[in-house]
Amino acid sequence: MLLEGKHGAVFGVANKNSLAWHIAQACHREGATQVLAVAGERFQDKARPLASTLDAGEPLTCDVTDDASIERCFAEIATRLPKLDFLVHSIAFADRSDLEARFHETRREGFALAQDISAFSLVALAKAARPLLAPDASILTLSYIGAVRAVPGYNVMGVAKASLESCVRYLACDLGPDSVRVNAISAGPVKTLSSSAIKGLKAKIDLQDVQAPLRRSLRGEEVGSAAAFLLSDLASGITGEVLYVDCGYHALGAFL
Ligand code: NAD
Repeated sequence: MLLEGKHGAVFGVANKNSLAWHIAQACHREGATQVLAVAGERFQDKARPLASTLDAGEPLTCDVTDDASIERCFAEIATRLPKLDFLVHSIAFADRSDLEARFHETRREGFALAQDISAFSLVALAKAARPLLAPDASILTLSYIGAVRAVPGYNVMGVAKASLESCVRYLACDLGPDSVRVNAISAGPVKTLSSSAIKGLKAKIDLQDVQAPLRRSLRGEEVGSAAAFLLSDLASGITGEVLYVDCGYHALGAFL
């Protein structure tokens, strides 16, 4: 029960495959009380039965491109939870045409959209959450190795993840004096709604079976467990960190 007595908000549950859902389940298992926030009304139907298994109430809506929507969401969170001990940002989006194009053909508006939804939104949520954050609160986001290596097909999203990881470090420095920790998990490839838009996702997952040190691909539950650790007091000395949860793939320097 790593999170007993803790209250948290988890953003980014689209369906039962979402990494955010694996995280929310792990946090529930560890004793947390949570609210879930989804991108819009059309995601509420999928999230409602999931949320009910965690006693998380009606899923809230929050479109991170809209400041008013973020404000409304946190006003609602304040009525449901006494404080926020943790905040999970598991949100990303890029237009499929920009993911599929050759990188040098990325459109200006596609670049900006990926940055806005996938990176700036972490800053926007941290700002909105600030008045509710408890001392020793923990903020967590999700990244991918495409932030630090050029991964074929990841393109504009890789640049957004690089920005996101930088935001983690700046937020960690900014909020650290208030005892708030900010970290990222860089997860290996897992089939989800948004990852399905990445060209060659299946090949990337299959590659893990032969190349990752653990010789297998990652399970969503493993992201959940690592997240519960980072959100808990066991990780009280960890901030500004990107933790690779990828069966060791990031450690490779040469391939078989
Ligand atoms: P997912 O599709 O289940 O989750 C992405 C979420 O982003 C969805 O819930 C979607 O509704 C939300 N979102 C998109 N636009 C939004 C907006 N304007 N406002 C609010 N929410 C919005 O896919 P996932 O794979 O679970 O992705 C979660 C996070 O994990 C993302 O940051 C993703 O880049 C990261 N990640 C995924 C993998 C993977 O292989 N699946 C690997 C590493 C990192």
